[in-house]
Amino acid sequence: MTLSQLPDLPAPPSPQCIAALAAELADLAPIQAAAELERLSKDFYAYSPVLSPLLAECRAQLAVKVRTVEQVRRVASACARLGVPLTLRGAGTGNYGQCVPLQGGLVLDLTGLKQLRSFDPDSGEIVAEAGWLLADLDGQLALHGRALRLAPSTYRTASLGGFIAGGAGGIGSLRWGFLRDPGNLLGLEVMTVEPEPRLVQLDASASAPLNHAYGTNGILTALRLPTCEAVAWQQLVLGFDDWTQALAALQGLAASALLLNNVTLLEAPVATLMPWPLGCPSAAGAEHRLLLLAAPDSLEANPQLLSAWGGRLLWQESQAASRGLPLRELCWNHTTLHWRGQQPDWTYLQLLLPHDPRPLLAALRQRWGHELLWHLEAVRQHGEVRLSALPLLHYAGPTALAELIGQCRDLGALVFDPHQITVEEGGLGGIDPAQVAAKARHDPAGLLNPGKLRGWQQGTANLNVNRNPDSSGYRRL
Ligand SMILES: Cc1cc2nc3c(=O)[nH]c(=O)nc-3n(C[C@H](O)[C@H](O)[C@H](O)COP(=O)(O)OP(=O)(O)OC[C@H]3O[C@@H](n4cnc5c(N)ncnc54)[C@H](O)[C@@H]3O)c2cc1C
Repeated sequence: MTLSQLPDLPAPPSPQCIAALAAELADLAPIQAAAELERLSKDFYAYSPVLSPLLAECRAQLAVKVRTVEQVRRVASACARLGVPLTLRGAGTGNYGQCVPLQGGLVLDLTGLKQLRSFDPDSGEIVAEAGWLLADLDGQLALHGRALRLAPSTYRTASLGGFIAGGAGGIGSLRWGFLRDPGNLLGLEVMTVEPEPRLVQLDASASAPLNHAYGTNGILTALRLPTCEAVAWQQLVLGFDDWTQALAALQGLAASALLLNNVTLLEAPVATLMPWPLGCPSAAGAEHRLLLLAAPDSLEANPQLLSAWGGRLLWQESQAASRGLPLRELCWNHTTLHWRGQQPDWTYLQLLLPHDPRPLLAALRQRWGHELLWHLEAVRQHGEVRLSALPLLHYAGPTALAELIGQCRDLGALVFDPHQITVEEGGLGGIDPAQVAAKARHDPAGLLNPGKLRGWQQGTANLNVNRNPDSSGYRRL
């Protein structure tokens, strides 16, 4: 894939046009320094050897950091009037080049939007602005005995708006499913990109097409979310000599009545390269490791369950007392980060495994041997316990990668391909007419994050787009 193969990307604006934009937004101190523009044009796409060369040269021509919704309106209006592509940015921790501007233009940093507009003590519902750092917002909720339901392992660095627009799930997904499951997002405030921008309020149903749309179909300024009770999570590391027993323990614990926020299984070679929290023993060669975030009242039941599966407790500490890395930074895509820190010629995939994952795991081990190593996460999907996988792959070129992806699909896995730049290819592959319709309503000139929504690039006319905000064409991850 090359950028020139992307259909209908708008031409980058001329230097004169960018100068006019900078002059109009002069009081917002627009950023024009090359090094800063380069930094603000990147995320964590380097995990992918396919995306790395593709996106290396992509740069914003201007960047602005806003602090108020009124400033968002001014930027949106100026971009719409001058026809400048507008790419939204939270903390820039996305993995698919999600906030990389493919055709220059302006990058809008929204991390300055930080008001907690409301907290309902009865329901726990919040309305929070998009720029909140997740850990900071969770800190505010903790004062009321509440917590965010879901968080990426980048909890300490990622923004709320970036998580909803770019993330999928993570810690808490064992209890609450994925971000796009109904009930996890209750509403959005969205600024449109038009000469006279509108600030629109969307209910849960109308918000769904903007959830995980990479900021292509509206600028999220505030989000209405449910919260859950705060729990004093305990971090546990368990060791297993036998992979089959470790897998049975992962599935058994995930399906138990214990209150668990995350269960991760790392195959022995993966565990050996992880930077374990202070006090936790390093991993020995052949030991598979299960990482648990468990409620205090689950600890009593654990020892009996564990010995039945042939596991042993290696380390335990409350999350609040974490020294060094917390355990949640050894799971989800942090595992990939730590592994690649030592093995930069490896990459990864993201899968939802079939209900019985064992045939797939066996077939892939037979074909790929230890060039493919397993990192599994237990999740709840549509009410059922399933296994997500972020396997690590020794990269042997695009042909081998395509073979592996094809094989995963043939063996019944859903592949969320992290080597693609569009919303569709990073998701289930198909165009979601409701996402495209939301773009038509909120970004009629197609300026938001150009090139990332394939359905828009291919033209709404051919799609029989349903412009009703409650479109049932919406498809869940
Ligand atoms: C080490 C590591 C671990 C990770 N673990 C997880 C994980 O556990 N679960 C998970 O889901 N993801 C994970 N990710 C991916 C990423 O961290 C999450 O998607 C994160 O939530 C992104 O937040 P951000 O603020 O960095 O967003 P950014 O990267 O800045 O943006 C992400 C996308 O959202 C858009 N966007 C940002 N703000 C807005 C806004 N206000 N309105 C509209 N669009 C907006 C951007 O244009 C972009 O398309 C991980 C990434 C890394 C590098």
